[in-house]
Amino acid sequence: MLDIAKIREEFPILHQEVNGFPLVYFDNAATSQKPKKVIEALVKYYEGTNSNVHRGAHTLASQATEQFEQTREAARAFLNASSTEEVIFTKGTTEGLNLVASSFGRSQIQEGDEVIISTMEHHSNIVPWQILCEEKKAILKVIPMTDEGELIFEEYEKLLSEKTKLVSIVHVSNSLGTINPIKQYIDLAHRYGAVVMVDGAQSSPHFQLDVQDLDCDFFVFSAHKIYGPTGMGVLYGKKALLEKMPPYLGGGEMIKEVTFEKTTYNDLPFKFEAGTPNIGDTIALKYALDFMNEIGREKIAAHEQDLLAYATEQMKAIDRVKIIGEARNKVGVISFNVEGMHHFDVGMLMDANGIAIRTGHHCTQPLMHRLGIDGTVRASFAIYNTKEEVDRMVGSLRKIIAKFAK
Ligand code: PMP
Repeated sequence: MLDIAKIREEFPILHQEVNGFPLVYFDNAATSQKPKKVIEALVKYYEGTNSNVHRGAHTLASQATEQFEQTREAARAFLNASSTEEVIFTKGTTEGLNLVASSFGRSQIQEGDEVIISTMEHHSNIVPWQILCEEKKAILKVIPMTDEGELIFEEYEKLLSEKTKLVSIVHVSNSLGTINPIKQYIDLAHRYGAVVMVDGAQSSPHFQLDVQDLDCDFFVFSAHKIYGPTGMGVLYGKKALLEKMPPYLGGGEMIKEVTFEKTTYNDLPFKFEAGTPNIGDTIALKYALDFMNEIGREKIAAHEQDLLAYATEQMKAIDRVKIIGEARNKVGVISFNVEGMHHFDVGMLMDANGIAIRTGHHCTQPLMHRLGIDGTVRASFAIYNTKEEVDRMVGSLRKIIAKFAK
């Protein structure tokens, strides 16, 4: 049994009152809170080690470089990538997606080629492909979805052809919590010779990952959603693909030799890491990964599934509440609307009771259009959340509905 009270002690931010009530933090899909070890790692770095990496001849620079590269190894293990050459540090999921759209996309996608995404993509996995397709006169196709929030595999099959150059698909929907069976989608795309990118922003916080088993070509996630700092993320890419791709940004770090006539590029992964990186946050990410590994990702998943089942049952029992997205396989995300109330008002009233949830379109406007709504209220769980907190949310929601729903 996990000792959740003990885990909560690791998170200073959780122990405060908001608007006169103990905070219930259910906005984890937007960003998770940070354990003390992550916060302390940042302070320790700036107080004791701060130096630029990879080029200093002095002791602090060597220490910073060593710690920085330790995170790369920890991220490799987290994803089960075969080599640290395949682990590129970015600003986050958005930058990882843009890097691939720009570098792989611009060099490999030609007029008339096709790119496939899905109905439930975050804007960051739509817009970069739209920009690319517009520039290249390529065609963007979209996998449809059922009313329950599951992608339709048979329809996906119909979209694929030898024209398909790339499929980019979300592993877990941030708005609905749907876990997509992406291995199946990857296998099929590969049969057509297409490359597959996986947006792992919402799967990385919740369960075990294995990029070799998935056999995806690219995988991206953000540190801030897995108990790590903001401004930091990871792009995994298969070595053979990364080697063929042109750099994304040019500058220091990513070069071997520069003359005015010609520049030769650095080896992987540095070819894609131009400029001074986000050193402190990268070092701190290792502590977030350690935190998850120490608990165990199976245990994190089991605890969150338990909360999801409990909360779903409670929420379904409330009159006027409609859960949006009822896929068979979900992470701990409950999106809902209240009949007779705007989602924004529900969120504001919950906040007045100290309950932090998200409202709106969650950066998935096309998904909202598909469902015929303009937004939802979203509660999303993390390892430190409890059934008592779910009870607080449910109790508060019942009162709000009794008082305000028309
Ligand atoms: N994809 C998904 C599914 C997300 O949930 C998010 C963050 N909400 C992103 C991409 C973008 O992540 P970031 O803002 O950290 O770059």
